[in-house]
Amino acid sequence: MKIEMNNFIKAIMESDLKEGKVKEIVTRFPPEPNAYLHIGHARAMVTNFALAETFNGKTNLRFDDTNPAKEDASFVDAIIKDIEWLGFKPDNVFYGSDYFEETFEKALLLIRKSLAYVCDLNALETSKYRGTLSTPGINSPYRDRSVEENLELFMNMRKGLYKPGERVLRAKIDMASSNINMRDPVLYRILDIPHHKTSNEWVIYPMYDFAHPLQDAFEGITHSLCSLEYDNHRPLYDWVVANCETKHTPKQIEFGRLSITNTIMSKRYLKQLVESKLVTGYDDPRMPTLVGLRRRGYTKDAIINFIIETGLSRTNATVERDMLDHFLREDLKLKTNRIMGIKEPLKVTLTNYADDKVEYLEINNNSEALELGSRKIAFSKHLYIEKEDFLLEKPNKHFKRLALNLEVRLFGAYFIKCNDVVYNKSGEIVELLCTYDPLTKSNSGFDGRKPNGTIHFCEATTSKKAKFNEFDSLLNEAATEEENLDIISRFNKDSWKVYNGFIEDKKYEIEEKFQLIRDGYYTVDKTSTDEEVVLNKIVSLKSSFK
Ligand code: ATP
Ligand code: MG
Repeated sequence: MKIEMNNFIKAIMESDLKEGKVKEIVTRFPPEPNAYLHIGHARAMVTNFALAETFNGKTNLRFDDTNPAKEDASFVDAIIKDIEWLGFKPDNVFYGSDYFEETFEKALLLIRKSLAYVCDLNALETSKYRGTLSTPGINSPYRDRSVEENLELFMNMRKGLYKPGERVLRAKIDMASSNINMRDPVLYRILDIPHHKTSNEWVIYPMYDFAHPLQDAFEGITHSLCSLEYDNHRPLYDWVVANCETKHTPKQIEFGRLSITNTIMSKRYLKQLVESKLVTGYDDPRMPTLVGLRRRGYTKDAIINFIIETGLSRTNATVERDMLDHFLREDLKLKTNRIMGIKEPLKVTLTNYADDKVEYLEINNNSEALELGSRKIAFSKHLYIEKEDFLLEKPNKHFKRLALNLEVRLFGAYFIKCNDVVYNKSGEIVELLCTYDPLTKSNSGFDGRKPNGTIHFCEATTSKKAKFNEFDSLLNEAATEEENLDIISRFNKDSWKVYNGFIEDKKYEIEEKFQLIRDGYYTVDKTSTDEEVVLNKIVSLKSSFK
């Protein structure tokens, strides 16, 4: 799939190519394997892959795995699957940990150039010495160690002679810089934690700000695209590249992060939801993770179109969730069959229909997309309609459904008229006694009279048992990602509703999508069995946006 994107980064790439600054566009998507990807990541992913593709360039998938404390191989596999699902093919799959040795060599180079030193200040002291936005920092007392001493101490760090936190390697830049990131940032710290790829080989790990620019340089990345919060890390990025004497000079470009109304994306909150068991897992259909959206039935095309349509600029933007829904409806409208399901069934008995007969009526799969063909639906004396499609008395002229002594069309079948109702002991209506008119068969050209509307139905003896899952926002009030959001108390307990009913008889494949007539778009959930089809509502037919 060729994705058309027009934005300021494309313009930069275009001019860099034209001016001969780069020969080929090379980008990378660098997820940290410490969580599942979410819809926000899709912006970074689509941007990196689509822009490189536009210029026939390359995109590497690079796992940014330099912090073993939080990373895990299971996330690596999940991320690879998500990227495949969205339809992107990385030209290479690399790991930050592939470069541990080269990165270490570059640290030695900086020490030899007197641009890095081993510092013995503890974390508290380090932050005190660092100063604040309004006051300059103070030089560490260890800043002027000799090259020889630094080399020896750094080698000892690698050998595991010190405890975590005892010593770090820092860049020697400028403790008075107005950019706090430039005040002798830490390059390496000691972590006595096994790594998912290098196991116990290393006890020192490079910091993101040191490792990332080097990885970009080693891979020949031309445009290193990242979200806006790295803006004030760019001087350090450039310092690392310039002083480490790499063959290649990558360029960092920042873009705004994507937020969506009523959608929490922060890894911390998603983790809390999973760990507190308020959701069923990362692939809970209410989650904004790509696995969650996929299970909910969201399509890759809708997600990609949404990402493109939200545009890209150098400001963080919040987009209405309704916009994503719009692209789902657009994507599913002409691609899916329209079938009939009954969520809250009410029995209908046709008193003038033969007892043991089941007839099959031909109907189009999608009246707006005839190329999707047709199918046969069952019809007999025993039917189900939606409870809410019947009232004893027609309340007003807008009620286009069934009522006592009124006639409606059953979609794709006949007109039926309700003549009587059956009550149970508690006084609820449990069955409608109706008659059908054989002359009114669908497509027979009958135009003798107009029914009071058209409703849908399921034939009772052949239809399958179905469970309908309907979802709402995970959080109660319109929530933004404010600091310390109390996610547990804001959790919307009504965010997953279940209805039991029936659906047309056919074979249902997991992840298959269709429209349920007069209701919305649905997908078949992985928990479906032969006895019961489990359906997830993707989105309603019409926008409920007020
Ligand atoms: P962390 O706080 O752990 O770094 P992260 O959200 O940045 O979290 P990464 O795995 O590092 O997660 O993200 C991979 C890439 O996706 C990064 O380039 C990041 O900038 C980008 N990204 C993540 N969330 C968004 C978002 N909401 N909008 C745009 N880009 C995003
Ligand atoms: Mg990150």
